[in-house]
Amino acid sequence: MARSTRCAARPDGSFYAEAGVASPKLARFAGNNACAEAEFLAGIPGTVGGALAMNAGCHGGETWRYVERVLMLNRQGRLLRGPDDFTIGYRHVGLKSATDEVFAAAWFRFPPGDAGVAQARMKELLERRVATQPLALPNAGSVFRNPPGDHAARLIEAAGLKGTQIDGAQVSEKHANFIVNPEGAASASGIEMLIGRIQAEVRRKVRDFAGARSAHSSVRWRSGQEGRS
Ligand SMILES: Cc1cc2nc3c(=O)[nH]c(=O)nc-3n(C[C@H](O)[C@H](O)[C@H](O)COP(=O)(O)OP(=O)(O)OC[C@H]3O[C@@H](n4cnc5c(N)ncnc54)[C@H](O)[C@@H]3O)c2cc1C
Repeated sequence: MARSTRCAARPDGSFYAEAGVASPKLARFAGNNACAEAEFLAGIPGTVGGALAMNAGCHGGETWRYVERVLMLNRQGRLLRGPDDFTIGYRHVGLKSATDEVFAAAWFRFPPGDAGVAQARMKELLERRVATQPLALPNAGSVFRNPPGDHAARLIEAAGLKGTQIDGAQVSEKHANFIVNPEGAASASGIEMLIGRIQAEVRRKVRDFAGARSAHSSVRWRSGQEGRS
């Protein structure tokens, strides 16, 4: 597939973004075009395709709340779909009737806003991320989904696990739901062992943590670079 990085404002006020567009770019594009509520995407690394597949979200915003329709690709070609064709949940999106399609593009509609307000909000959210997340160290984002009514980071911290290390993989001191690779030497098995230890310790000391494991837990680190399998 070509890089698919076209992002365009449409005359009807919606935005067309191809799957390869960086999510922060869509946030800036919508904000600069005087739309509100896209700001949450400014701090989420990755692409519109990934954000659609994960229903990426933060700070009260979620990708699919703003999706009008999507362009899908399968072996036969392209087809248009709407939100009703999907089961959409917390960091989960499933196509109801097929399994062999990928997102090629989407049309988003954000409420009207003000460009200056949107820019200020993006700056504020990015500063909050820098202050609270270990972005200076290799990481793959939050490891566990938040269980209903609670925060994974709070549970991990309550279990006394901040700073715990296995084979170079470490529970971040800054944000307990991040595993960092401070020396660039963590192995995939070390990360998986640490994930297992966190689950076991939280379950033992704090509450049932089963099922909280996120899609991000299939992380693989290679020589200090993060990637997801
Ligand atoms: C520091 C950091 C902070 C993060 N903060 C957040 C956050 O606040 N909120 C949040 O939700 N996530 C967060 N993430 C996780 C991640 O950035 C998002 O889920 C992002 O939307 C994933 O996009 P991606 O392009 O990297 O997708 P990938 O990680 O490459 O893929 C994610 C999944 O989407 C599928 N996928 C990707 N593109 C397509 C496509 N075109 N069609 C069909 N399926 C596709 C992949 O197969 C995979 O299953 C964070 C990650 C990091 C490293």
